[in-house]
Amino acid sequence: MKILSVNAGSSSLKFTMIELPEEKVMISGTFEKIGLDDSFYTIKYNGNKDKKEAKLESHTDAVKILLEELINYKVIKSYDEIDGVGHRIVHGGDKYTESVIIDESVLKTVEELTPLAPLHNPANLVGIRSFMEVLPDTKMVAVFDTAFHQTMPKEEYLYALPYDWYKNYGVRRYGFHGTSHRYIATKMNELLGEDRKIISCHIGNGASICAIKDGKSIATSMGFTPIAGVIMGTRCGDIDVGLLPYVMSQTKEKFDEVMNDLNKKSGVLGLTGVSSDMRDVEEGYNNKDERCITALNMYANKVAEYISMYNTKLEGADAIVFTAGVGENSDLMRSLIIKRLSFMGIKLDEEKNSQRGIDGEISSDDSTIKVYVIPTDEELMIAKDTYNLINE
Ligand code: ADP
Repeated sequence: MKILSVNAGSSSLKFTMIELPEEKVMISGTFEKIGLDDSFYTIKYNGNKDKKEAKLESHTDAVKILLEELINYKVIKSYDEIDGVGHRIVHGGDKYTESVIIDESVLKTVEELTPLAPLHNPANLVGIRSFMEVLPDTKMVAVFDTAFHQTMPKEEYLYALPYDWYKNYGVRRYGFHGTSHRYIATKMNELLGEDRKIISCHIGNGASICAIKDGKSIATSMGFTPIAGVIMGTRCGDIDVGLLPYVMSQTKEKFDEVMNDLNKKSGVLGLTGVSSDMRDVEEGYNNKDERCITALNMYANKVAEYISMYNTKLEGADAIVFTAGVGENSDLMRSLIIKRLSFMGIKLDEEKNSQRGIDGEISSDDSTIKVYVIPTDEELMIAKDTYNLINE
């Protein structure tokens, strides 16, 4: 079966077509700057990457071109060869604990959840509606970033805030990156067997840590929104909210502007003033740039703190897994993090750690907790959910 896995943002649309059950990626691509004058798209096929300019006034324009390109690249002969489309949806609130077939009631609920994710859910919905317009008879599935974390116990998802805020307005921890953490849980289940205790560190531009017990999320570092938890590329992670009125009084910024600073100008970018990209910051670190050194140390401290905390919650983890852009590629960051845990007997095999393109164990034989690098694959997870649901 040929399944399209789709991630629609406010001005972008990413897709991957995967053949299932073979799990073979057939073609993928990204449409960018939708609605702007300089819109373009790239297609990856057979190891080549083609960049093309195109006037993309709307997501529907992008979807139409996407489908035409599938035929041009000879991936399909006609649209009815597309067996299903899986859509990533950022927020499913406490309504969705797993992926679902999209119907009118799902669309309505996702729309109702918009106040919880005002930027993301509307963009995801635009993506779905564009596909429905062009492929009205194709089955579509919604895969929620929050769903995996719905197994967290109440003590974990409640904040110590007026209880009415939770009851009346749904103020609680939801957690994100659920599809990635679920992928890691599934992979580790295959590697180590069931009933294992895993700490999944998805550290990319966005970053979150998740404690997984028996394949279920029991704690995660992102919260009501994705700003919470560890230090990220441009997001601050955990901070003292008491600083907000003070900053506003000093900078004369409005609340929205300060929130934008916390989301887009903080984290590694804020600390270094250089870049949000770990590769640039590592260069600064190697060149003994003081701010880059501090930023990388703070970043490693924070991830190590969450690992320690979740090791306690899990009453002893079996494995720590690194994934996403930084986790998969930065041997320096993995090494800085694990060094902070060496007092617990957690140790890396630095030779394994320094290899490129790792997919497997990197801890030393005598490490008390095994450490792995597992490349995440959210697109495959979305496609698999779609395949499973449309075959039910
Ligand atoms: P997103 O959260 O946008 O999905 P990714 O998981 O793709 O992000 O991670 C992107 C980030 O990964 C980059 O911003 C960069 O910080 C980091 N990264 C990618 N390659 C490397 C590398 N070779 N070394 C260090 N960091 C890297």
